[in-house]
Amino acid sequence: MKPYDTKVIRPGQSLEEAARLLREGQLVSFPTETVYGLGANALIEDAVRAIFAAKGRPADNPLIVHIWPGYDLDQIVEEIPDSAKKLMEAFWPGPLTMSFRKKDCIPDATTAGLDTVGIRMPDHPVAQSLLRMSGVPVAAPSANSSGRPSPTTAQHVWEDMKGKIPCIVDGGDCKVGLESTFVDMTGPVPMILRPGAITREMLEEVVGRVDVEPSVAKGLAISDEEKPRSPGMKYRHYAPKGQMLLLDGTMEQKAAWIRKALEESDEKTGLLISTELKDMIFPSEPVPEAVHLEELGSHQDPEEMAHRLFGALRRFDEYRCTRIYGEAFSDTGVEMALMNRMRRAAAGQILHLQKGI
Ligand code: AMP
Ligand code: MG
Repeated sequence: MKPYDTKVIRPGQSLEEAARLLREGQLVSFPTETVYGLGANALIEDAVRAIFAAKGRPADNPLIVHIWPGYDLDQIVEEIPDSAKKLMEAFWPGPLTMSFRKKDCIPDATTAGLDTVGIRMPDHPVAQSLLRMSGVPVAAPSANSSGRPSPTTAQHVWEDMKGKIPCIVDGGDCKVGLESTFVDMTGPVPMILRPGAITREMLEEVVGRVDVEPSVAKGLAISDEEKPRSPGMKYRHYAPKGQMLLLDGTMEQKAAWIRKALEESDEKTGLLISTELKDMIFPSEPVPEAVHLEELGSHQDPEEMAHRLFGALRRFDEYRCTRIYGEAFSDTGVEMALMNRMRRAAAGQILHLQKGI
């Protein structure tokens, strides 16, 4: 296929051309508050197929459909349960995707053959204007090449999609920096299939009990036979090229283990850790030459850590780290989302220091 001369629309420039491209079935990458999306008209089968081709995405991994405030959702989904209406009221527009039974106008390619469709209303002025101007629901996964960390700047999209798509809309840095929370609303109890910035605790405050799909707390430990309810969860994702290992234990154990590992190796080593752990490993001395430090921020501010995660994962490749040690986080609040992405980046490799393994 002939490469595209990819056009970048800068902040403040007209979105008219991008909206037209979307309407007509072409691909456009656009900013949202979570990550950059790679959008196509969700109602045109060939347009949707082009997303899978540009990303190298496996065909059994469904896409999320994006709508704007005022869009009549009844056009594309069968039934909206009361609990979903409450969650929309509380969190839309925002980083929450919910799945419903789809209507026939949504082609199978969009949902990878599932009879449910994930819907999100982004809380980003550029995304909302573009969607409204296009006038069509837009299927959009994250705009990275499959397997790479999701893009949180237009530059990240450029690195992965230059020449493969006609247009990128630059809207600056994404505020949240992690993909949306995905909740399946088609069962008796809402079920989190992918954690994000809207936490289980926040959802439960609005609708009572919310379950978490077991695969969320596993790395990649899902075999093909197991068939997770969110097909995307079975793929290796976000992984830097170096060997990544997560360390679980007390802060003291993690600090001591990393100090010793750094002493014993002269490999280019990346660290993906909190400010608190960094201060314990390097209380006064400078960070050694062979170490590339990605300090995510304080445990007091997990939203900021989430915001920095994907950029940090991309930089480990830039600095050619052959080994990466990451700090394991908790499985509550926003740290659940952070830990879910880190487990997958590390392909499930976790060392449990408290058990002395
Ligand atoms: P991405 O936008 O690249 O983060 O991918 C969307 C994620 O949502 C993938 O992990 C999909 O498996 C998941 N997803 C999308 N639609 C559905 C659906 N109808 N049911 C379950 N999971 C879905
Ligand atoms: Mg993705």
